Formats: sequence, C-alpha cells, structure tokens
Amino acid sequence: MRVLIVEDEPKTGAYLKKGLEESGFSVDLAKDGAEGLMLAQEESYDVIVLDVMLPVLDGWDVLKRLRDTHTTPVLFLTARDDVQDRVHGLELGADDYLVKPFAFVELLARIRTLARRGPPRETERITVGDLEMDVVRRRVRRGTVRIELTPREFALLQLLARRQGEVLSRTQIASYVWDMNFDSDTNVVEVAIRRLRAKIDDDFPVKLIHTVRGVGYVLEPKDKA
Ligand code: CA
Repeated sequence: MRVLIVEDEPKTGAYLKKGLEESGFSVDLAKDGAEGLMLAQEESYDVIVLDVMLPVLDGWDVLKRLRDTHTTPVLFLTARDDVQDRVHGLELGADDYLVKPFAFVELLARIRTLARRGPPRETERITVGDLEMDVVRRRVRRGTVRIELTPREFALLQLLARRQGEVLSRTQIASYVWDMNFDSDTNVVEVAIRRLRAKIDDDFPVKLIHTVRGVGYVLEPKDKA
C-alpha cells in the first residue's frame, strides 16, 4: 500500500516515513503543498496524510484542488485543536483528521482504516436511501423534498452519511462536530440528533438515523422495526 505524507517539518516527516515503512507501507514524502499536490495528482496512493500548515500551498488548498479530480482518502493533521479546522477539513472532503501531537499507533490505525475503506465513489454527492447530499452546493433532499439545514446540522449529517452503516459513538460525533470531549454528561449530541431527525426523518416512513443503545448512532435506510 502506498502512502503520501505531506509534511514540512523535516523531523516529523522523516519519523512518519520511517515508521510507516517499518509497518509495511511504501511511502513518499513531500515537503510543501505544491509538491504534495503534484505527487497526489500524478501518482496513485491508497492514503494521503496531509499537514494543514504548509509552505507554498497550505493543506486546505491542496485538499480543495485535489478533490476536483481525485477521491484518494485524506487524513489531515492539524496542530490546533480547533473545531473550525475539523469542520472545514471535513467539508472540503477530508476523510479523517488527527490533532498534533498524536501517537504513532493512532496514526497507523487511522491509515489502515482509510486504506481498507478505499476512496468513496463520489465525494460531491452522498446518497443514503432516498437522501441526497450535495456537498458542494450544500443542498439536502429526500426524494423530491428539499430540506434546509443549519451549517452544524449539515456537518453532522455529512459525518453520519460519509460513515453510513457505521455506528458512531457520541464521543466520536462530538469530537468531529463540536469542540468538546464528552466526559461530562452533556447531551449536546442527543439534542442535535433530535433536531436533525425532526428535519430529515419525522415526515418520512423510512427512517435514516437510528439509535444504537449504549453505543451511539448510525445512518442507514431502514424501516422502523
Ligand atoms: Ca506544518
């Protein structure tokens, strides 16, 4: 499996390259955004690990331009533990993210998951049953019914839709969509899910958002049992 690392800090880049090679990956290392974008467009990778703060082109620009033509899974690395970064990255079509500093084993696990999942068939349009999300135009419809969502609802739905069929825990959802860790008893995720359900599920016979008790939520078309 081939991995492209785009990382400008020489020590980090060399460390990641060495670690991934020792784990059996074939690794290319690009030291700025322009070089990274060129390699990503010309070569064929299973996963791209993309730093956000990069010279020449930053990670956002690389991701934006890459997504015009390629669906290669992208894991982005953000130094700031900033919810805006995560939401922005996912909106631009990143598949996952890690906040620096991270443990190498965590990076390895994420890369393996992304490599297994492979590129999505389409990144601009996500469909789940009769639900269709146009990620670029930010439109959502079920069948012929247009549904208006707030930006946060859209981010939440997009996360669930990209991982359709996969149960996501409240903690996972919170760390993607909100800037918080859910050790506390806050029910922000539940409230948001309820609001989203009211918009995308309540008026339709086939429900898409399902609660998996004690675990979290999954998005998939399924008749109410
Ligand atoms: Ca950097």
